[in-house]
Amino acid sequence: MMSNLRIATLALQGAFAEHEQMLRSLGAESVEIRNLNDWLTYAENPQGLIIPGGESTTMTRIMHDLELWDPIRDAIAGGLPVFGTCAGLIMLDSQHLATMDITAKRNAYGRQLGSFYHEGGFKGITDDGSTIPMTFIRAPYIETAGKDVEILSVVNDRIVAARQGNQLVTAFHPELNTDTHIHRFFLDIVEKSI
Ligand code: GLN
Repeated sequence: MMSNLRIATLALQGAFAEHEQMLRSLGAESVEIRNLNDWLTYAENPQGLIIPGGESTTMTRIMHDLELWDPIRDAIAGGLPVFGTCAGLIMLDSQHLATMDITAKRNAYGRQLGSFYHEGGFKGITDDGSTIPMTFIRAPYIETAGKDVEILSVVNDRIVAARQGNQLVTAFHPELNTDTHIHRFFLDIVEKSI
């Protein structure tokens, strides 16, 4: 079912290779976006985009330099499914691409808790009381969320995953664990949008 999917991954910097592996393990094809030409080719028949973790300031600069900012923002604003992890969450917030009605607090857990592992609940995936692995690396959390934002996961009283229409964000890095639930959740959003 998912084998026909072709998902783009923004491959400018950060943890994109792990997302691509995850996509392939689920039978989806992965397309790397490294420059405007890659994007324009993919945008002829787009299905979904992953914005990986990394460093949001650097990613912002590179997207502007490569003239990827406006076309990618317009595609997401137009309904293209997108999945942002960690820095990718920050990229979608009101201070950045501003396609999602959230504000992210960057590097939110302080020095000691800069990176940590947690097993927690995720609405729509762990409703049977199970948990999924969550790896946080100098992660943000969602400080404010507008009324159209559905909160999917809360850890230590902080919102760490949310959805607004076809946009999905996690403060943690599901691509760094072997659990495939979150990527499947995203691919479901993609399939329903096609
Ligand atoms: N701290 C990074 C930022 O502010 C995000 C870290 C990550 O993506 N793992 O962009």
